[in-house]
Amino acid sequence: MTTALAPSSALSAADRCDRCGAQAYVRVTLTSGGELLFCAHHGREHSEKLRNIAITIHDETGRLEPTSTVAAEEER
Ligand SMILES: [Zn+2]
Repeated sequence: MTTALAPSSALSAADRCDRCGAQAYVRVTLTSGGELLFCAHHGREHSEKLRNIAITIHDETGRLEPTSTVAAEEER
């Protein structure tokens, strides 16, 4: 696991999920040099694949309220 937690790279409300436009809580730095942003929902959905192509996965989903898991289930 190569999760980076550098304070300087913290995600802000301006960072949006590439898939759905929700606020991003996961930033993935790819081996190709690119970056992907995901909300908690999509970060979790793609985490298996991302682990194979990412250098670092910056995960701030821990900042979310525990109750948000209920909302994520209703979302689909
Ligand atoms: Zn999303």
